[in-house]
Amino acid sequence: MSFNIEKIVRDNVKGLKPYSSARDEYVSDGSQMVFLDANENPFENGVNRYPDPQQRSLKSVLAEQKGVRVENLLLGNGSDEVLDLLFRAFCEPKQDNVITLPPTYGMYKVLSGTNAIENREVLLTADFQPDVESILGKADAQSKLLFICSPNNPTGNSFKSAYIIQLLENFKGLVVIDEAYIDFAEHESWATQLQAYPNLVVTQTLSKAYGMAGIRLGICMASSAVIAVLNKIKPPYNVNELTQARGLQRVNDIEKVQWEVSNILSERNKLTTALQQVPFVQLVYPTDANFVLVKVDDANKRYMELLKMGVVVRNRTTQPLCENTLRFTVGTPEENEKLITVLKELSVS
Ligand SMILES: *Cc1c(COP(=O)(O)O)cnc(C)c1O
Repeated sequence: MSFNIEKIVRDNVKGLKPYSSARDEYVSDGSQMVFLDANENPFENGVNRYPDPQQRSLKSVLAEQKGVRVENLLLGNGSDEVLDLLFRAFCEPKQDNVITLPPTYGMYKVLSGTNAIENREVLLTADFQPDVESILGKADAQSKLLFICSPNNPTGNSFKSAYIIQLLENFKGLVVIDEAYIDFAEHESWATQLQAYPNLVVTQTLSKAYGMAGIRLGICMASSAVIAVLNKIKPPYNVNELTQARGLQRVNDIEKVQWEVSNILSERNKLTTALQQVPFVQLVYPTDANFVLVKVDDANKRYMELLKMGVVVRNRTTQPLCENTLRFTVGTPEENEKLITVLKELSVS
């Protein structure tokens, strides 16, 4: 497939020389050196030194686990930072546009707003799949990014790979597949296809399955050419020392993560079955994520009732195609029991 990255990088980024930090100019080889180059406080407290700007320890483990090379990886302060970097690297304000597929993750729209980029919305079809023909019809030479959230938030389903392939093959900008929920899905990551599609960008996060929303660690996987562009504009120390250390601990304890994911998956099944028996629930949508979208009789009313009973869910009724829907995140077995009890109580009253 022919794809020329030079054609889509912003002009100012093309000519940019990135900030060169002390830790870029002298990369430690492990030998005992006296570090007097970064104006740090020399008294050790665990965080008195600047973190590794390239997060090499973390990336080497992630590269192996994700089946990509280190040069195909960029880490961010959450995947939200990665998404913002994509806008700033490839979209010329007030000139370029991006394409998003509502109902979907709200950050794409927020980021297009803050970066002064037109957001062209193409609704998903009634069965929550991308409308390939309309998407390609809306795209023009200024369409730099296409955001595909799969599994999709808030609907929970994954998009059919045939549709994604059509988009990868025909969209002229970068196709960004947001895989925040991939660890809950049965199918494999699109990151396995990086060699085949030079315009593919895959984002993942430690915020969901890995249980580390608090440390803010996002993963971007793409061709080394795309990663090199993002590296030029990223803040030098965008992933702090505490995040790198806790993130590394967690990815090295991958069996624990997998155990938690399988627990969440069996709880998701239990919750789905229970929801299907609730009289005011009209539809439980199939899900590949750690949440379940449900159509109810009156979402605003049921949302308030649940709140009064001490359960906070997400009311998605204002989203397109999501009228009267609530989104339930799968909790611990105890939390799900509590939810199910509350749903039963609300059903009899
Ligand atoms: C939760 C979520 C993210 C996570 O963003 P982080 O900044 O990594 O916490 C990204 N995309 C989608 C679709 C999400 O639902």
